[in-house]
Amino acid sequence: MLAASASETTKSGVQRVDVAVVGAGFAGLYLLHRLRKAGLSAVALDAASDVGGTWYWNRYPGARCDIQTIDYSYTFDPELESAWKWSEKYATQPEILRYLGFVADRYDLRRDIRFGTKVTNATWDGAAERWLLTTNSGATVSCRYYIMATGCLSSPKPPEIDGVSDFKGEVYFTGRWPHEEVKLAGKRVAVIGTGSSGIQAIPLIAEQAAHLTVFQRTPSFAIPAQNGPPPADRVALLKSDRASYRAQARDSLAGVPWPQSTVVSWQLSDAERRERFETAWAAGDLVYILTQLWADQGVDFEGNAVLADLVREKIREIVKNPETAAALTPHDHPFGAKRPCLDTNYYATYNRPNVTLVNLRQEPIKSITASGIKTDKRTADLDVIVFATGFDAMTGAIMAVHPITGRGGKSLSDVWTHGPQTYLGLTVAGFPNLFMITGPGSPSVLSNMAVSIEQHVDWVVDRLIAMREAGFTTIEATEMAQAGWAQHMADCSTLTLHRLANTWYTGANVPGKAQGVMPYPGGVGPYRSICNEVVSHNMLGFRLTGPNGAEQCNDGQIVRLQPDVRLVLNMLADMKLPPLECFGAQGARDFLAAFNAARPAGRPVGDVVDGTLPVTGGSLPYRLYRPATPGPHPILVYFHGGGWVLGDQVSDEPFCRDMCRRSGMIFVSVGYRHAPEHRFPTAAEDGYAATRWIAEHAADLGGKPGPVMVAGWSAGANVAAVTCQLARDRGGPQISGQLLVCPVTDCTFDRPSYNDNATGYFLTRSLMFWFWDLYCSPADRTDPRVSPLRGKLQGLPPAFVATCEFDPLRDEGVAYAEAMAAAGVPVEQLKARGHFHMSLTMVDVVITGVSGRVQMADALRRFAGLPSAWREGDVGFRPSQVVAPHEIASAAE
Ligand code: NAP
Repeated sequence: MLAASASETTKSGVQRVDVAVVGAGFAGLYLLHRLRKAGLSAVALDAASDVGGTWYWNRYPGARCDIQTIDYSYTFDPELESAWKWSEKYATQPEILRYLGFVADRYDLRRDIRFGTKVTNATWDGAAERWLLTTNSGATVSCRYYIMATGCLSSPKPPEIDGVSDFKGEVYFTGRWPHEEVKLAGKRVAVIGTGSSGIQAIPLIAEQAAHLTVFQRTPSFAIPAQNGPPPADRVALLKSDRASYRAQARDSLAGVPWPQSTVVSWQLSDAERRERFETAWAAGDLVYILTQLWADQGVDFEGNAVLADLVREKIREIVKNPETAAALTPHDHPFGAKRPCLDTNYYATYNRPNVTLVNLRQEPIKSITASGIKTDKRTADLDVIVFATGFDAMTGAIMAVHPITGRGGKSLSDVWTHGPQTYLGLTVAGFPNLFMITGPGSPSVLSNMAVSIEQHVDWVVDRLIAMREAGFTTIEATEMAQAGWAQHMADCSTLTLHRLANTWYTGANVPGKAQGVMPYPGGVGPYRSICNEVVSHNMLGFRLTGPNGAEQCNDGQIVRLQPDVRLVLNMLADMKLPPLECFGAQGARDFLAAFNAARPAGRPVGDVVDGTLPVTGGSLPYRLYRPATPGPHPILVYFHGGGWVLGDQVSDEPFCRDMCRRSGMIFVSVGYRHAPEHRFPTAAEDGYAATRWIAEHAADLGGKPGPVMVAGWSAGANVAAVTCQLARDRGGPQISGQLLVCPVTDCTFDRPSYNDNATGYFLTRSLMFWFWDLYCSPADRTDPRVSPLRGKLQGLPPAFVATCEFDPLRDEGVAYAEAMAAAGVPVEQLKARGHFHMSLTMVDVVITGVSGRVQMADALRRFAGLPSAWREGDVGFRPSQVVAPHEIASAAE
């Protein structure tokens, strides 16, 4: 271990250190330990009189952690882990505070902490490359690096209710609870606020008070903690292999080692869902109920509603007065979109005769008077008011140690006027050598904070060591990297349901605060891997400078893929599959069949019917998907993907089901014949013949007679496009619209997308070459029946062309759309940013493809002359709700 470099005090009384840290809670303590081990001199400054951070201030009755304590612990030192034993599954605030004191003593950290010290000003001195801090005690600190370990929920928000200062009784804030005992016995007490703090405090206050009146504006979901000793099975799991238990937590989504649930709600029966829910209710674990029931509950409105209804049922069971139960039941947000609470006897407390619930939605508070609280309907006389009204979260604690003035005199509050801008939630462009631990834009409060804090501290201190070794003295995020991170944050936000609730996660609890999901919703494991990628890509997005003009800047955007696409591609890369073309045609078909068999078929539709249809020289199988709504429905003929070589009428089943449900149309997926057994132009001719037969038999198939539509994906979109040209030239059938998803349209391979995306995005350039070789000889390749871009484009049906950014076929799809538009065909384009060739059809995995499918279904309905399918209830799917919509450009004039 390197000896710590000494902190020195100059003649003018300025303390000079390598690093100044604000905060002596979980993050500040670990930082001090790591910095000292790295040989960097450091001082921590904290307004409190002892260590503990949030656990120093939040001393209200019932305060406990809501992540199991064996997981809510430091993991950096196995000896520390053995030296401390938690007494409860969810430890109380005093026990957690004792633990942090124990850690401070064990590593002798207090000697580097200045308690009772608040930073009042921090200014970057560009010439000296140092931050200069002034404090409330008058002492000044000069540091090379300034690290905010201020916590996410440390700055209580004002109550925003008139007359608080008029009240003559006692007033307490849960986030600033006194150190002395607060006596509530025999008193008339009010609690305002029913978030986690209120829900923990209310049952204990009710036991002491003569009467408790709870003023509730918005009900929260709460599940029982089922507290007790640490669960034996979890402790045994941890002890059996501590290292792998901790490693799993670090790579998980929430920072707690539960395996990823893969089953989705609609694959389970009602009984199975109820059984899973009851197990979760009995388990008393927020992370468990948020991650283990069914995979779609955090990302899909319907999957979430099933769980939310089951919790509502529990509330009605527990609370005896139906009116009170109704008032306590949340209906304004999906379960988990707002932080759910962990309680002990919360709902049952409302069955006590000394507890009254006031529903502020029906009778808002008018004012606080000298003797109590007045609403529209009542006056409550009170001795004590407890404000459990929450925090100015994520940014409040950083802003509380303002002003922070960066390069060129820029103030952080100005830079953040429209919401926090960060790179990785760790740094801010324009503020060199400033770091935030669990800052906005990092997983922080959507994770087990202990795990996220350790990851941030390790990343930051490792960077400082690396800079010292490389001779750099400043580090700063670039504007481009920061803008890229904002884009990635927005993409992640479309993935989860957090954007659908007004919460402190989004800044909605503080009047006037900029709105937007502040914590990183992409998960702890993915986030960790992104931070590591930044380092392995030569500190991508950072500018580093040093003496004598030394400079390094690898500028760029760390994540350009949609977050779920990134996960899928990483998973595929980890599988280290040989190129598909190595298997041969039959081997590749077998592989695809096995791949599809492991995948859920898709959501239920009204009816699924298999049949065959005649074509010259044989017959083709088809599968028909009928919506559950009353018919007859318009008919769409669908052609699957697979390079004219692979796939069949069921290989795009999840996509067909999803589109059938969304568009309200019959999808008939056709098993056209494949190469190399049936080379060009068989697929094209089969496509045309099948469309004609289906159009002629529309009524027999239960569809609406009249024009049909065609659609396809990849080579199937090629067949669909060609079918439209053949139908125009051969006198029918009438086609009212074409949906082309990532279509093959041309035999030229020199467009940029073929080179930019040649490898790494599943559909490779060499796989496309292989498909072309199997299907079509070079002499035939310019025939419009395989290269429709070379055909006549006038007089084609209206088209919707979807292309994906990271797809070799992107540019030929765009070219086809533009050429059709130029020929007078009404065309809409969807350019799916951050997506790859399979994104829009991987219904069960690529959640960010939903908005694209909504737009495609709506286009189909327009082709069929039907009204839009967006319903008021489909909040998750309405384009206005999508934070980062795919770019849609109407190429039609
Ligand atoms: P919170 O979740 O923001 O809850 C604040 C409550 O006060 C809400 O019910 C809010 O209603 C209400 N409120 C705010 N201003 C009001 C006003 N002017 N009039 C009436 N009601 C008002 O804050 P919190 O309970 O302190 O919890 C914050 C977070 O801290 C938690 O979500 C959790 O992450 C963390 N925490 C954790 C634990 C733990 O178990 N470890 C314990 C406590 C806190 P609206 O919803 O209508 O705004």
